[in-house]
Amino acid sequence: MLKNDMLEQWDRESFFHPSTHLAQFARGEAPERVIAGGQGVFIEDRDGTRLLDAFAGLYCVNVGYGRTEIAEAIAEQARQLSYYHAYVGHGTEASITLAKMVMDRAPDHMSKVYFGLGGSDANETNIKLVWYYNNVLGRSEKKKIISRWRGYHGSGLMTGSLTGLAGFHNKFDLPLAPILHTEAPYYFRRPDLDMTEADFVAHCAAELEALIAREGADTIAAFIGEPVLGTGGIVPPPAGYWDAIQPILQKHDILLIVDEVVTGFGRLGEMFGSLKYGLKPDLITIAKGLTSAYAPLSGSIVSDRMWTVLEQGTDEFGPIGHGWTYSAHPIGAAAGVANLKLIDDLGLVRNAADTGGYFVTAMQTALSEHAHVGDIRGEGMLCAVELVEDKGSRTFYDPPGKVAGAVVAAMLKEGVIARAMPQGDIVGFAPPLCLTRDEADRVVDVTARAVASVL
Ligand code: PLP
Repeated sequence: MLKNDMLEQWDRESFFHPSTHLAQFARGEAPERVIAGGQGVFIEDRDGTRLLDAFAGLYCVNVGYGRTEIAEAIAEQARQLSYYHAYVGHGTEASITLAKMVMDRAPDHMSKVYFGLGGSDANETNIKLVWYYNNVLGRSEKKKIISRWRGYHGSGLMTGSLTGLAGFHNKFDLPLAPILHTEAPYYFRRPDLDMTEADFVAHCAAELEALIAREGADTIAAFIGEPVLGTGGIVPPPAGYWDAIQPILQKHDILLIVDEVVTGFGRLGEMFGSLKYGLKPDLITIAKGLTSAYAPLSGSIVSDRMWTVLEQGTDEFGPIGHGWTYSAHPIGAAAGVANLKLIDDLGLVRNAADTGGYFVTAMQTALSEHAHVGDIRGEGMLCAVELVEDKGSRTFYDPPGKVAGAVVAAMLKEGVIARAMPQGDIVGFAPPLCLTRDEADRVVDVTARAVASVL
C-alpha cells in the first residue's frame, strides 16, 4: 500500500478535482481526504476515521455502501462480458433487463428508456430529443427551454446553462440562450412575507404565464424542473405548486421534463417524485439512485406521445444520430439490476418515507427554536436546515455560505458528513435510504451541537 504522504503529493501534483478551489488545494491549504472503504451509512478514510455519510456521497449511494450483491453482479458481468455497445439494436441481458425494470416502475404513460452515463448527459439527451421532436412536427421555432432559478440540471454546456445557480455559470461563457429562467418555488424566500402558500403558488404560476406571453408559446419547447429542488437548497414545493404549473404547460403545448436524478428510485418515499406529485412528464431524467452509484449510469425515460414522434422521425430522416460509446454499459446495467432488486427486497422506499419523516421531525424538534435557524424542511430522505442572521426578516449572512460551512466542518469533527449547499447558508442532508432511527438521532444530535457551537 502506498504511504499516505506519497499519495497526498501525487494528489496535489496530478489530480484535477471537480468543484474544488484549485489554487488552495495545490498549495495544501484545502483539506485532502482519501476515502478507503464504506459499509452501510459509513465511510472510512485511509487514517481509519469513520464518518456517518448523511449525504450518501452526492445523494447517490441510496442502498448504502458495501453491498456485496451489487459488487458480485458487477464482477460477474465483467467476467462474462465487460462491454458491448448498444448501437443499431444491440443489447445485453443486463441492459434489457434493466430497461424492463425501469419501465415497470415508471409512470404508466412512459414508453422507453435511453441509457447514458450521468445526470448531465441525460439532460443533454433530453434537450436534443425535445428539439428533434419539434423538428419532426415541423415546429422549427419552438425551441426555448424554461428552467427555474435554483434548479440544478448538470454541469455540461447546455445543462450548466439550465442550472439556475450563478456559481455554475461563473466565467464559463455558457450559451445561456435559448434558456429562460423562472421563479423558484421557494416559499421560505418568497418576495413578500405576507404571502400565504396559496398566494405564492399563484405568484409562481403568474410569473410563468407572463414569461410565456412575453416570449410567445410557439417559441417555447419545454419546461424542466426537479420535483423537489435539490442542489438549489433542498426545497420541497409549496402545496399545490405542481397542480398550478402543469396545466399552464399543457395549455401552451410545452413539454415537461422532470429531472429525477436525485428524487428517482425512492428518495422522496415514493418510487418517483412524478408519482408523488401527480406529474405527467414527457421525459424523466434518472441517474444516481438507478445504480446507487456502484457504477455510472443514467437514463432518459420517454413518454408514449414523444416516442410516437421519434419513431416517425426516423422513418423520415433515418436512424437517430445520438449515442454514447458507453450508453447502456453492461457493468452499469448489471449494477442497476442488482440495485433495484435490493431497493425492493429491503423495502427502502418505505424506509425513506418512515425514517425520513422521523428524521425531519427530530431535526425540527431539536433546532427550530434556535435564534438563527430560519427554516427546517424536508421530504422523504431529504432535509435542510437554513440559517439566517435575523429570524424575523430572514436576512442572509454576508458573505453567504460561511456559517453553513462552519457548521458542516464542526459536524465533520464529530464524525458526520452533511453538505453546505452552494447558494446561501443551508446545511443539507440526503442520507442513504437505509438510515435507521438511531443513526438519524445521531445526525440530529451532532447537527444541534454544531449549530450551538458556531452560532
Ligand atoms: N440533475 C440533478 C437534479 C442533479 O442533482 C444532478 C447532480 O447532482 C444532475 C442532474 C447532474 O448529474 P451528474 O452530476 O451525474 O452529471
